[in-house]
Amino acid sequence: MENETKNFIEQIIDRDLAEGVCDHVQTRFPPEPNGYLHIGHAKSILLNYGLAKKYQGQFNLRFDDTNPTKEKTEFVESIKEDVAWLGADWEDRLFFASDYFETMYECAVFLIKKGKAFVCDLTAEEIREYRGTLTEPGKDSPYRDRSVAENLELFENMKNGLYKDGEKVLRARIDMASPNINMRDPVIYRVAHMGHHNTGDTWCIYPMYDFAHPIEDAVEHVTHSICTLEFEDHRPLYNWVVQECEFDHPPKQIEFAKLYLKNVVTGKRYIKKLVEDGTVDGWDDPRLVSISGLRRRGYTPESIRKFVELAGVSKSNSTCEMPMLEYCIREDLKLKRPRMMAVLHPLKLVIDNYPEDQVEYMEVANNQENPELGVRTVPFSRELYIEREDFMEVPVKKYFRLYPGNEVRLMNGYFVTCTGVVKDAEGNVTEVHCTYDPETRSGSGFTGRKVKGTIHWVSARHGVKAEVRLYENIVDEEKGVYNEEDGSLNLNPNSLTVLKDCYLEPNLAGASAPESFQFVRNGYFCVDSKDSRPGSLVFNRIVSLKSSFKIETK
Ligand code: ATP
Ligand code: MG
Repeated sequence: MENETKNFIEQIIDRDLAEGVCDHVQTRFPPEPNGYLHIGHAKSILLNYGLAKKYQGQFNLRFDDTNPTKEKTEFVESIKEDVAWLGADWEDRLFFASDYFETMYECAVFLIKKGKAFVCDLTAEEIREYRGTLTEPGKDSPYRDRSVAENLELFENMKNGLYKDGEKVLRARIDMASPNINMRDPVIYRVAHMGHHNTGDTWCIYPMYDFAHPIEDAVEHVTHSICTLEFEDHRPLYNWVVQECEFDHPPKQIEFAKLYLKNVVTGKRYIKKLVEDGTVDGWDDPRLVSISGLRRRGYTPESIRKFVELAGVSKSNSTCEMPMLEYCIREDLKLKRPRMMAVLHPLKLVIDNYPEDQVEYMEVANNQENPELGVRTVPFSRELYIEREDFMEVPVKKYFRLYPGNEVRLMNGYFVTCTGVVKDAEGNVTEVHCTYDPETRSGSGFTGRKVKGTIHWVSARHGVKAEVRLYENIVDEEKGVYNEEDGSLNLNPNSLTVLKDCYLEPNLAGASAPESFQFVRNGYFCVDSKDSRPGSLVFNRIVSLKSSFKIETK
């Protein structure tokens, strides 16, 4: 830890510890339960959890459920699942901001008593008008100088349901001339006659985010409250609340840049729309970068951790590219997963001189780069499936795979030479015929001659039929994510391709989620957690094998 370069947040923490500003580290992840988490949240989770770990501190999971309109229990459950899956352990510290409503109310009363808060009768519209602009100061509310006694009574009436929504608000009494608009007597409590998923009908007044959040942090003794840059301008208000409420352990807000992925839909609002209008198969559709979508797609927690690490923590906005995330999953699976044979676009290959009933069990290394994964056997027989694109009746230049007269290596099998084809009435090739050379069996040490092409195969008799789903970006990258005219998404009509008649080597027959594999030459695939069943397997392509992404080595 001594020599490594520390990010700016770690530098702040080091200083705070050294100067005795705090004697421990307490962080939190505070999601609003109004949707599923996405890759951006993963960054925040892993950052907060990682800091707690690094400094032998603690990490809390706290639902920021102060807004009763949008929140749902379904989201609470999914968020817990996702945070746990990423490996961020909150132990027994699962909290709900709504559990602190009483404390927040007491803080508000405390502020009123100090003359630091007042009940205001201006409408939302009027409050906006009085607020001023970036260049002009605001005007004091005519209700600003109400007596403490009157404010206390009116606030209690607010709490007791005497007013309609919007009729009265509680405002902090700070400074209408502040250059920071957030400090111009911000609203801290509003009337809202709405049931809450946790507190039911107990409350008809709800605290505003900027008031609630610092109190939540202070109550939990959070030392470093890490949030994204858009809250930078709110920091003076955060500090004001902490200070005026006179908490013993004032938390410190630190902002960092959000994670952006180029040409990828991350905003909760947009994902929600895709889910609601049925464009995708739920929040866990494998095309989404929601955590549950990435999990179903076959991403591992390790790969996401690696990605977040590479993205780094900074104070200025920057954009990452999807190929970097893909690089991380390839790197994670490369040595861990067996390399299997699966044919996605099958074409029958018949070896005319191979004995009709013979089956040979070829021994195959599970992962040529990692002997620890051991070996398996794969049945070889007279009729095989090969990839349609591994045969060309009339080869193009530099095509080294099968074509009439050419010899290739069947991976883990024999050399075969193409002798002819069978076609249907429309002239489509339905079968390719060949002969094999028994001398050339894989592993036999044959060195007689070399061939340029190696193709994979699956024994037709033994192969397991499966559905395979291939994915592309859900948005049309050429057009860009958002339609400039109406702000809608530019969807890619080819984002999902379903291949119904794929053949897998029989070793894959028992595969179940969340297992994943390399399918040689075709990429990495995982068993679909929602739709795959024994006997009718469904695989998702996680990522293809090739990448344009390169890690810059310094
Ligand atoms: P979205 O912008 O997708 O609607 P949100 O910010 O409204 O998300 P919250 O539940 O309020 O979602 O966020 C929980 C935490 O995650 C906050 O601390 C927020 O700053 C952080 N967060 C949200 N999006 C990102 C991102 N893209 N990169 C890093 N952190 C993020
Ligand atoms: Mg939010």
